[in-house]
Amino acid sequence: MFMTIVISCAAFGFLWFAVPFACRRLEERRLARMCRQMRAIVLSYDDGPSGQLSPDLIDLLDRHQARATVFMLGRNAERHPEMVERYRQGGHEIASHSQNHLNAWKSAPWAVWRDIAAGRRTLAGFGADAALFRPPYGKVTLAGLLQAAVQRMRHAFWTVDSRDSWNRRPIDEVIAHVEAMGGGVVLMHDTDRAGRGPEPEKHAQYVLDLTQRLIDFAAANGFRLMRFGDLTGSGAGR
Ligand SMILES: [Zn+2]
Repeated sequence: MFMTIVISCAAFGFLWFAVPFACRRLEERRLARMCRQMRAIVLSYDDGPSGQLSPDLIDLLDRHQARATVFMLGRNAERHPEMVERYRQGGHEIASHSQNHLNAWKSAPWAVWRDIAAGRRTLAGFGADAALFRPPYGKVTLAGLLQAAVQRMRHAFWTVDSRDSWNRRPIDEVIAHVEAMGGGVVLMHDTDRAGRGPEPEKHAQYVLDLTQRLIDFAAANGFRLMRFGDLTGSGAGR
């Protein structure tokens, strides 16, 4: 009896966590390959829009005619609708990051399902390609895979993590990582302060500095800055 329970739990854990995790790893490899083949860098920003960083970031991107992909939270889009509009006007790709940023590995599956659906509705209301979805913390369960299939959503992961919101990597190290990978989908966060980690007030300047360096690096080394949907051929473009 005891062994049956242990085996059942292991089988459930494998299906619930390990299968989606393996899918994510495969998808990351696919993204890395596409970036390498197309010599592409995707500037991607999660958790926005924000009141202070967003305007500066949009100015910087627009100054260089660089197009980014922003995975917004529905609640923050409602808080800063003018920033959503500025991103739209600039030709940046707006996609979904859920309504309230629930961690799928730590929350009830029905709550996560509702949160993802709510974020999609909110962002679709702003004209976003809300079927393109980056899971909060990159965490997906079997329920998440099922929801993506049923609601025709596309998961969007990343290949280079700047760790900007909790443990900022030196900018040179991020650039070297991108160079070694032959391009990449770079994860940053469009928030005024870092969510976790030391010196949260330095977050915004770090994101601006890293963005500038990535733009300069791309121009100097023949990389193309692409929006996520353009890279994967699945985007609505805005
Ligand atoms: Zn996030």
